[in-house]
Amino acid sequence: MSRVYADVIVDISQEKLDKTFQYEVPEALQKQAEIGKQVRISFGNGKRELTGYIVGLSGEAKIAPERIKPILKVEEKGMEIESRLISLAAWIAREYGSTMNQALKTVLPVKAKERTKEKRYLCLREKEETCAELLEEYKRKHYKAKERLLQALLENETLEYSDVTGRLKITASVIRSFREQGLVQVIRERDYRNPVAKRGEVQEVSPLKLTPLQEQVCEEIFQEWETPNPRPCLIKGVTGSGKTEVYMKLISHVLEQGQQVIVLIPEIALTYQNVSRFYRRFGNCVALINSRLSKGERFDQLEQAKKGEVSIVIGPRSALFTPFPNLGLILIDEEHEDSYKSEKTPCYHARETAICRGEMEGARVVLGSASPSVESYYKGKTGEYRLLYLEERYGASQLPEVSVVDLKEELKTGNRSVFSSLLTEKIRERLMKKEQVMLFLNRRGYTGFVSCRSCGHVMKCPHCDVSLTSHRNGKLICHYCGYETRDVKRCPICGSPYIGGFKAGTQQIEALVQKSFPGARVLRMDADTTKRKDDHERILAAFAKGEADILIGTQMIVKGHDFPNVTLVGVLAADLSLCSEDYRAAEKTFQLLLQAVGRAGRGNRPGEAVIQTYHPEHYSIQAAKSQNYEEFYEKEIQYRMLMEYPPAAAMAAIRGACENEELLKEAMSYCRKYLERIYPKEDLILIGPAPETVAKVQDSYKMVLYMRHKSRPALVRLKDALERYIAVNKGFQSIYIQFDFNV
Ligand code: ADP
Ligand code: ZN
Ligand code: ZN
Repeated sequence: MSRVYADVIVDISQEKLDKTFQYEVPEALQKQAEIGKQVRISFGNGKRELTGYIVGLSGEAKIAPERIKPILKVEEKGMEIESRLISLAAWIAREYGSTMNQALKTVLPVKAKERTKEKRYLCLREKEETCAELLEEYKRKHYKAKERLLQALLENETLEYSDVTGRLKITASVIRSFREQGLVQVIRERDYRNPVAKRGEVQEVSPLKLTPLQEQVCEEIFQEWETPNPRPCLIKGVTGSGKTEVYMKLISHVLEQGQQVIVLIPEIALTYQNVSRFYRRFGNCVALINSRLSKGERFDQLEQAKKGEVSIVIGPRSALFTPFPNLGLILIDEEHEDSYKSEKTPCYHARETAICRGEMEGARVVLGSASPSVESYYKGKTGEYRLLYLEERYGASQLPEVSVVDLKEELKTGNRSVFSSLLTEKIRERLMKKEQVMLFLNRRGYTGFVSCRSCGHVMKCPHCDVSLTSHRNGKLICHYCGYETRDVKRCPICGSPYIGGFKAGTQQIEALVQKSFPGARVLRMDADTTKRKDDHERILAAFAKGEADILIGTQMIVKGHDFPNVTLVGVLAADLSLCSEDYRAAEKTFQLLLQAVGRAGRGNRPGEAVIQTYHPEHYSIQAAKSQNYEEFYEKEIQYRMLMEYPPAAAMAAIRGACENEELLKEAMSYCRKYLERIYPKEDLILIGPAPETVAKVQDSYKMVLYMRHKSRPALVRLKDALERYIAVNKGFQSIYIQFDFNV
């Protein structure tokens, strides 16, 4: 038998994950040794025996073979949660093309240094009279520091240690002398940084009685779970149909069996309003994870999950890796959301990864959406997922009425404003009736770029191939790298004075709204007004309370809160996302419009929406008008099948980045040649390499090469081969390569 070596990590909860040690797998253990397995090894001079985990296996020794020690034992007792997460990391590394380290860092909860920072307090131990006497003595002797500390302690009894050394400027030696005198005591408080507990005012409520349709959906899901190989379930249900109520019933069922639940919600929808429903229903066994938590808080939450102190974790994509010991269910709400895909290597998709984790750990997966991704719905229709419909809105609230305005026609009538006459009229109407309006801008395209109307020159960032955005503070800013420059008065190319913001950004729209509707109170929500932690929530809450008449915003405003007083939604230019080269452009446009339109009329008054567009005939606009997902899907799937785009085929992107454009071009074309050589058959379609849409970011050039093939595993194998080729090839040393399997 040949020799086998294992890479072993010893401590998985530290940031030193990349430090692995090679051990030999003795022949007798080779059958048992797998990635993820727990092993016993001798460490250092062989004096210490430790537990580690196998994260890699190979036939090659990295150091002289005689210096490599053998693994002592492979643990066979039930795979611990760490082992299972390491196996999941191995799957991610392979499936999405990353190093094992990158995958481990994605999957394992890592202890940040900050965690050791415990709060310490000083408190008085002596009787007050004694202290008062001492204080007099310090005053007499001019012991300023001692006097200050004692005075403060007499006033407060306990003081935070950091406050004493910071604000009061007391040195550690003074504190020490107080302690030695027995005057004060230092207490440590191991406080779990649980942000939920801080909000502790939630009251538990009992479950609602489900409607017959909601009951039926639950029953069908339970049926599926009884089968030997339960499929993922996809609930397609309009907003307001009670999907969340169904989720809660499924969750209770799983909790009753002593198992735990992960609920994924897009970051943007993780509002207090949304999450508090889960707290009210399940109380303290819920933990929330979001990107606003510090590393320490996050680690604590995950530790609690591991110890079984919480049994439901709600969070965005990354919450999928919660180390629950007995995971029973993974729920993914709004499964069509883009944010479930990681933009960083490994570019994993939470939906696919959840299904893989579910299979590995015997947990069920339930997806939910009012407008599922084309891929998921296709799988539902073809039986790979179990598809369930929940198409009645709870209560009597009606769908909003939608009008589409053709902006080309508008122009012919001489109206060059961003508001069509129909929209203007309707906004006036609402303002009179004291109802609220939401105006939605598509972020893409409406970036407020500056161009010359004489020669067409567009002001671009010198470091990135994107246009600069004009801000009211008189600056042009690059949103990719932060580059700033003064706004220009004359075109730098032809000298024409007719240069300026051509399309309006949210700021400009705000100004226009104020001009067109004087007296209206306006709130704006975009990247600039939501820089701080709670801005997003604050603006939405203010609008919900009626502190403004009109809310203007980008994608951000179409999710989250319910606004019962909003009766009109205006979409200023629907097609800007239709113009991108992305094959998902129609899907994205439809999804956005559907969500935007759905914001109107949540209360008991009927809602209305106006969609302004240059392409009123496009099926994504038409289907959004009739709010008919099925109509959209039928057209879209025809297009995907015809063009062989996913789900008709699998696609992957090989993205390259390098500061040297020539080197990058050469390397990328070598990738293509290599793939053609190792897979000369016609069913592999290669597109590119070509510059990315944004071809340069922070002085680094970007190119992309697409692969398309019927079979995803075939693409994964090609990726494996390409990875090996790149690793041994000197020409790739300065090139950063990223694989992306969900383009
Ligand atoms: P979705 O998640 O599909 O958007 P929700 O679960 O949020 O739908 O339900 C929409 C509204 O209807 C919520 O206010 C919810 O409390 C209410 N609702 C849904 N189902 C019921 C029910 N069976 N009994 C009472 N209220 C319900
Ligand atoms: Zn010019
Ligand atoms: Zn830039």
